[in-house]
Amino acid sequence: MERHAYVTLVTNADYAMGAVALLRSLKLTGTSADIVVMHTGGVEARALQPLAALGARLLEAELLPTSAAFNERHQRARLHADAPFTKGNKPAFHTPLDNFAKLRLWQLTEYERVVFIDADAIVIRNIDRLFAYPEFSAAPNVYESLADFHRLNSGVFVARPSQETFTAMVEKLDRPGAFWRRTDQTFLQEFFPDWHGLPVFFNMLQYVWFNLPELWDWRSVSVVHFQYEKPWEKDHPKAEALRPLIDLWRAYHDGADIPDPALLPNPGDDA
Ligand code: UDP
Ligand code: MN
Repeated sequence: MERHAYVTLVTNADYAMGAVALLRSLKLTGTSADIVVMHTGGVEARALQPLAALGARLLEAELLPTSAAFNERHQRARLHADAPFTKGNKPAFHTPLDNFAKLRLWQLTEYERVVFIDADAIVIRNIDRLFAYPEFSAAPNVYESLADFHRLNSGVFVARPSQETFTAMVEKLDRPGAFWRRTDQTFLQEFFPDWHGLPVFFNMLQYVWFNLPELWDWRSVSVVHFQYEKPWEKDHPKAEALRPLIDLWRAYHDGADIPDPALLPNPGDDA
């Protein structure tokens, strides 16, 4: 038996809601890999219960033992002031420091390979072949222009758990003065400078829908990732422009029938 797992992270009830849609979507792909939800103690049992009911393995994971100075530099208001988000808005329930807890997946050494997926994503078709990809594989952070190809997006990636790697990461992460402006994403790009690029379709960022519509093709999109505003936020500023994606997320979340993805209209199509 291959030791493979999809892993996500939830540190509050909002991201647990996101994970419900993610887990439903993963199960519909017919994967036989484990589905692991790492959660902090701050998530109430009521929010975790639906995840357990969907068959996920729930693992409690503490935030990393970073220093007070590190936590101060990455505290939400401070990070937003020092490295402002100019392209979109982060929801009020997003705590930048919590992102670093993703690194705990390197401690899941019972698995030979894991595919991490953000709790704000849905998987449209089977992606089990990612377990055959090497560490560290991630898709580029493409949602606006060609220059985006220089950076990875840490919402979907392939990793090989290893206590040794985890220790090396924690040691590099919290050096004096270290500031990771896009948290785990900036850190992982620096830790794995030779990262392997996955096709963008393994991590299609929602803004591609309106910024680069010619890149969107439902016949190849495997993962839709709702970076910035979340589909369960009430009436966010981009909700109208993203309506078809939000409706699809809602169908996964609610357990409604899912249309054949290959038949969904692409952004350029006439309705
Ligand atoms: N996350 C979390 N609680 C937080 C912030 C982040 O559980 O307060 C987890 C969750 O899995 C989330 C991921 O870390 O999907 C990364 O954050 P987010 O997806 O909001 O970042 P974005 O994709 O907008 O850059
Ligand atoms: Mn995300």
